[in-house]
Amino acid sequence: MAILPIYTFDHPILKQVSTPVAEMTGEIKLFVKNLFETMNNADGIGLAANQVGSEHAITVIDIGDLEEDDLKSGKKAHKTPPLVLINPVIEAFSEEKEDFEEGCLSLPTFRDKVTRPTGIQVRFYDLDMKEHRLEADGLLSRVMQHEIDHLNGIYFFERLSPMRRAMAHPKLRRIQLGQAEAEYPVYLEQKHPQRRKKKK
Ligand code: ZN
Repeated sequence: MAILPIYTFDHPILKQVSTPVAEMTGEIKLFVKNLFETMNNADGIGLAANQVGSEHAITVIDIGDLEEDDLKSGKKAHKTPPLVLINPVIEAFSEEKEDFEEGCLSLPTFRDKVTRPTGIQVRFYDLDMKEHRLEADGLLSRVMQHEIDHLNGIYFFERLSPMRRAMAHPKLRRIQLGQAEAEYPVYLEQKHPQRRKKKK
């Protein structure tokens, strides 16, 4: 097992649409273990394969004991087991939407409130390439939408209103320049080395 460096904004692979897994292999199973280890090391609750530089359409999610309590729905917290989603597709969204503050391991130090549908129906494959359909709401639905967005090359800040996105720009710029500290290993695409110096 290994902790992999997490790719941060704006590495090109984070804007790529992932490639569906056609066949399960031992290599992919090992990769999934590494995804879990990398996510846990970074205290994350979700991680998509392209966040560690892989093109596979795979995401791991572990919201643990966190649950709808955090979304003030009044439901009792319960343990949700760790999940591996292979080739996940959201088939339906609820009409109801809600705001919730999101963070992202590829955007260290940045958080903002995102409006998303409350519930989803998702289709995915497990490690035995068995197909599943699941209805999720609350935090699980939130994290699934965030991670499946990653697999489609979408950052959560792209779901913000134009005004909030403009306000986020300086913080995103700092991440792009490698000036935002992360408490886990990251991989930064050095696209703008000459701009790392002073900017004002
Ligand atoms: Zn993310």
